[in-house]
Amino acid sequence: MKLAGGKNNRGPSCAVCQERMPASWQGAVAHCDGPGVAWVMRQIEKPHHAEQINPVCWRCGGKLGCPRCASSGAALLCVRCAAWATPEGLAANGPILNSAVSVAKRHGVAAPQFVEYPEEFRRARGAGQDNVDFDPSKLSAPARRLYQLGLAGIGNGAA
Ligand SMILES: [Zn+2]
Ligand SMILES: [Zn+2]
Ligand SMILES: [Zn+2]
Repeated sequence: MKLAGGKNNRGPSCAVCQERMPASWQGAVAHCDGPGVAWVMRQIEKPHHAEQINPVCWRCGGKLGCPRCASSGAALLCVRCAAWATPEGLAANGPILNSAVSVAKRHGVAAPQFVEYPEEFRRARGAGQDNVDFDPSKLSAPARRLYQLGLAGIGNGAA
């Protein structure tokens, strides 16, 4: 398989594929096969490496890549489920809306609503804070862009 990085790298090596990292590499080496069912943050060669990979989707169990290819924290989104993948994501953004237009754009995929999220996610968001008054304009610019792209792109073959 084709991997980024030269043969002269002198950093730690990947336990999965034995690729050596550059000498400047800090921390652990995690092997990432790509963004899986996550919203794609950046198209990069597969596989690639990061310090850690993201947890699988709480809902479908699908792989969610790593912070390099699929974002992380509050911006990590499963496009198969139209679900935020971390408690911070639900806390910052609220559940994804299921308007007729947005569900149609997602080819019929209905996003899980507040009560369907795991308890630790709901705790992070806070009681009674459903998406009724969610205002995307209050998000940070990168999160707002991801949110809007996510709404438009969910279900369009990213899985
Ligand atoms: Zn590897
Ligand atoms: Zn999922
Ligand atoms: Zn990755």
